[in-house]
Amino acid sequence: MRQKIVAGNWKMNLNKEEAEILASEVVNIAKDETPSDVKVIMCTPFIHLSKVKSLIGNAANVFVGAQNCYTEPKGAYTGEISAQQLASYGIDYVILGHSERREYFGESNEMLATKTDAVIANGMLPIFCFGEVLEEREAGTQKAVVEKQLSEGLFHLSAEDFGKVVLAYEPVWAIGTGKTATSAQAQEMHKDIRDMVAAKYGQEVADATSILYGGSAKPSNAQELFAQPDVDGGLIGGASLVSRDFIDISK
Ligand code: PGA
Repeated sequence: MRQKIVAGNWKMNLNKEEAEILASEVVNIAKDETPSDVKVIMCTPFIHLSKVKSLIGNAANVFVGAQNCYTEPKGAYTGEISAQQLASYGIDYVILGHSERREYFGESNEMLATKTDAVIANGMLPIFCFGEVLEEREAGTQKAVVEKQLSEGLFHLSAEDFGKVVLAYEPVWAIGTGKTATSAQAQEMHKDIRDMVAAKYGQEVADATSILYGGSAKPSNAQELFAQPDVDGGLIGGASLVSRDFIDISK
């Protein structure tokens, strides 16, 4: 069976003290309340990673992730952080290709393919984000958009390496807008995504791939979204900043 995952994307939020409080609360509540077959991941700003990792300690079902990394292993790239550096801190996951990175920082599918290689080569697991914008959905081209993002960003991988990737379908029009995809819309797209993976890597790989939904997921809609057969969890933005909400989503 494929892994169920609830990953929190803190984005550029929380100062030192706030981050420590939230991470401690999440670890404590997750230990008692999150079902043992669900992985909880906190994807924090770079500056909090090390501290959050130490607060997680040996909690069995809680992990830490970064929100980005650079393509190159080291060198004169002022302000960037490499996959190699993240791995040296024992970071488990790295979000790649979030729509905010694509939109504000011009990240292309080609660049994301290189970042994916860097993350995997350093023994971490990518959470690869993709999804259509509103105009694309209104034009009915969402499936083609997603197919292009997957094929250009990920389908160069071997089946073995693809097996390390967590997919996160995030319709851009649902991110931070309060406008969630309906469970039917999510299921339809997730099924299409799984079919695309099956066409490339075979049904066995597709059936083992975790596909998360992201975009205004919250405690009140998580149950219905996650009940869909092809939705294996969520990438949670706003609601991951409130420990109670985040853990309720994981339940
Ligand atoms: P949201 O963000 O849950 O606040 O909509 C999701 C994301 O951007 O990953």
